[in-house]
Amino acid sequence: MLLAERYRTIEILGHGGMGEVYRGCDERLGRPVAVKLLRPDLRDPLTAARFQHEARAAAVVRHPHVIAVYDFGHSNGEYYLVMELVEGHSVGRELTLHGPFDPEAALDIVRQVAAGLTAAHRHGVVHRDIKPDNLLIDADGSVKIADFGIARAPADPAITSSGLIPGTSLYLAPERALGHPATAASDVYALGCVLYQLLTGRPPFEAADPTEIMCQHVRAEPALPDDLPAPLVHLLRLMLSKDPADRPSPAEVATWTYDVPADAPTTELAALRPARHWRRAVAVLAAVIVAGTAVTAGVLTDQESNTPLAPANVSPTQPPRQAMPAPRPTTAPTVTVTTVVTSRRPRASSSSTSHPAGKPVTKAPEHPRKAKPKKPGKH
Ligand code: ADP
Ligand code: MG
Repeated sequence: MLLAERYRTIEILGHGGMGEVYRGCDERLGRPVAVKLLRPDLRDPLTAARFQHEARAAAVVRHPHVIAVYDFGHSNGEYYLVMELVEGHSVGRELTLHGPFDPEAALDIVRQVAAGLTAAHRHGVVHRDIKPDNLLIDADGSVKIADFGIARAPADPAITSSGLIPGTSLYLAPERALGHPATAASDVYALGCVLYQLLTGRPPFEAADPTEIMCQHVRAEPALPDDLPAPLVHLLRLMLSKDPADRPSPAEVATWTYDVPADAPTTELAALRPARHWRRAVAVLAAVIVAGTAVTAGVLTDQESNTPLAPANVSPTQPPRQAMPAPRPTTAPTVTVTTVVTSRRPRASSSSTSHPAGKPVTKAPEHPRKAKPKKPGKH
């Protein structure tokens, strides 16, 4: 098929909830591209608007770890999105084919995604659907974030139906399960779920009913394998914090994935930086000042629960903290989920139930390692 007298579709590469993705060729420029076509049964105005929204949200972000968008249009009755072609496959497919990754490779993937998310958040774009199927690994091991289909850019209207939570319940942050809007911290939680799955072969919570999975995100603590290096478990815990304020920013995740030493006892981590406590102290102080001002004005705001994390976490003026904070006890709130998820399929469990043999995570080299799954022969 030739679209807009320019883009030829050649062979199908994959498909998801919104459409089919083809290997294609931009015949005008003579370069390979990927072409996503909106599914024929989804060509209603609302979904077409969402599709265009995906193109715009992704086009705002230019980063080596985010798929570049080249064009969007309507031709031959098809809505199409033209983007950078990734010669490889998704992290989800890699998990299905070869099972879990060793810690070093898992951290490499997470580091790259965190770098891409940092760029997206800096532009005010929250992805909202970080999951293994939306992370693509190219031939040289570089990981790219794909599928901004339900991403939220600051200037965009809310185009999801009211009462429905877009995204996959397996990676849904607790605050989103409770009906709060997605923030940068929700993407970090989803990435924490991905890290968990990369290491163990399974997402942190599984159930046949998506609502049950959402309840678990809100109240249950994930079972963390005890033979993983303690700092890695600690990083997982932080990323999977129930309270968005306790999660690191993507920039911190990117930094910490270099710093996670395999053999440091957890107590040593306590010696690393009280930066988080410092930030919390400042936040509390600011809340007190704001509350005081608000009371004076006759208005009381709940800073702790209502302030979206995104601005604080993605502000270019706030340098990333350099060290991972020490572990601290977490408490799971008791709540009832009253919101509803969309009917995306629950992800099938990986065929592998094993998790890696706890290969030590060594201090990372200066340049990012290329993501390499465990050897296929292992599974
Ligand atoms: P959907 O919005 O329908 O979920 P995605 O954008 O997630 O669609 O793409 C579905 C699948 O198509 C991906 O999991 C991947 O296998 C493949 N794919 C998507 N984008 C590209 C790309 N730029 N290059 C190569 N393959 C891609
Ligand atoms: Mg997808």
